[in-house]
Amino acid sequence: MSQFANTQTAPTAPREFGFWLDGAYQGGRELFERSSPGHGVPVTLIPKCTVDDLNAAVAAARRTFEDRSWAGISGAERAGVLLRTAQILRDRRDEIAYWEVLENGKPISQARGEIDHCIACFEVAAGAARLLHGDSFNSLGDNLFGMVLREPVGVVGLITPWNFPFLILCERVPFILASGCTMVVKPSEVTSATTLILGEILADAGLPKGAYNVVTGSGRTIGQALTEHPDVDMLSFTGSTSVGRSVVHAAADTNFKKLGLELGGKNPIIVFADADLEDAADGAAFGISFNTGQCCVSSSRLIVDRRVAKEFEEILARKMKKIVVGDPLDESTQVGAITTSQQNETIMSYIAKGNAEGARLVTGGSQMDLGKGTYIEPTLFSDVTKGMSIATDEIFGPVLSSFHFDTTEEAIHLANDTVYGLAASVWSKNIDTALSVTRRVRAGRFWVNCIMAGGPEMPLGGFKQSGWGREAGVYGVEEYTQVKSVHIDTGKRSHWIK
Ligand code: NAP
Repeated sequence: MSQFANTQTAPTAPREFGFWLDGAYQGGRELFERSSPGHGVPVTLIPKCTVDDLNAAVAAARRTFEDRSWAGISGAERAGVLLRTAQILRDRRDEIAYWEVLENGKPISQARGEIDHCIACFEVAAGAARLLHGDSFNSLGDNLFGMVLREPVGVVGLITPWNFPFLILCERVPFILASGCTMVVKPSEVTSATTLILGEILADAGLPKGAYNVVTGSGRTIGQALTEHPDVDMLSFTGSTSVGRSVVHAAADTNFKKLGLELGGKNPIIVFADADLEDAADGAAFGISFNTGQCCVSSSRLIVDRRVAKEFEEILARKMKKIVVGDPLDESTQVGAITTSQQNETIMSYIAKGNAEGARLVTGGSQMDLGKGTYIEPTLFSDVTKGMSIATDEIFGPVLSSFHFDTTEEAIHLANDTVYGLAASVWSKNIDTALSVTRRVRAGRFWVNCIMAGGPEMPLGGFKQSGWGREAGVYGVEEYTQVKSVHIDTGKRSHWIK
């Protein structure tokens, strides 16, 4: 058992990290001090990288891409590195979970579950590395044969948010590596530790130096510089729609780098009168409270059949009151701390707006005083109508807005009445209803009689302003490739000059 398995307390002094360049930690930079949102004590010291550091990281990634030590080896050899990484992650699971909890505030049991998902990501990507292939065209006539090659895009910049620092990282890194690309990662400044630890793990697994580099610092400085870097071939950005928009401008203003964007959501959970209401209420409580609602796929809009709305909201409120909110290092905690004080203020301001704009508070709505850290009660508003701030804006907190519908058409219309299209969930025992809604609601991920289910085999991504492209699974690997059409003349040339 590792030394972290039974660690129940925050460290007495913060751990200092270097940034990860060319297979080793680099120190000597000004440091950012991160405090645990669940405990209010300093836990990590993270370098504030300079643009020179970023240039060195991009140069290392470029050198390793061009020397073919990663892109030029077989898929089987790449798979070997990814599978060894999965094994080391298994061995260091408790340690990674511990740092994830300290910087993010999520419950320790949830963090361990996320690392299990990350291990699966590396295993699925290992399979994809071996199976990645192009296509051929035998239909161009006897004298012309066509091949379609898939080639790695090159150097990838990867920018990740603070809500799932390690999980979102691992839903991208193994798939990027499986394609043969190399990368420079910029995690959120407040949750950089586990992204740095992954550098050690990949090196131990045999990844060539320079294939995985991490620059740390704030988004406005080092993140912006990465989006503008002329020697980065592709940028994968996960974060808010507003920063996503600036990433698109930066790509257009520099080198037209290829973009993958995973952005915000205001995701509907649609409950029909014929659903198992106890199951659906459990799903709705989980969907809005998991990770304190700081989840791009949080189901933050409840769209419930008016015939059962009152009964359903009562069941749901009863369940939400029973959710165990508390110290993230406590094994029994289901919902931990809000990750940043800024996010805490944002959530509380939306709760105030919900009250002021005439929604009915059914349960929750208050800050919780647990003696230390920042916590908010899981909150349900009913009688929410179009035009209220809590109806349209992504709150990114444990605040659920309930709407009522009379017909299936109205439910579909309400579900689609958003600029986002990330995820959706429908609950009905009628297969016609469930499938019709699934086919008509515009969202990249759909759950029928379940919520946030799935594995790294399935692609992730959004419609509309929730983003471009897909991550994970075979689709995720293909995203980091570009296609080359090859035409081979197999006969005597028909001459142009007679
Ligand atoms: P954010 O403010 O957009 O930040 C995301 C990342 O971008 C962080 O690493 C941030 O660094 C960096 N960043 C900030 N400003 C930047 C700039 N001008 N140029 C380049 N990078 C910049 O988002 P967040 O508040 O961390 O995360 C919440 C948002 O992410 C929500 O909207 C949520 O829906 C979305 N999200 C989407 C998905 C998905 O898969 N669709 C998954 C998770 C989260 P610093 O933090 O160091 O400033």
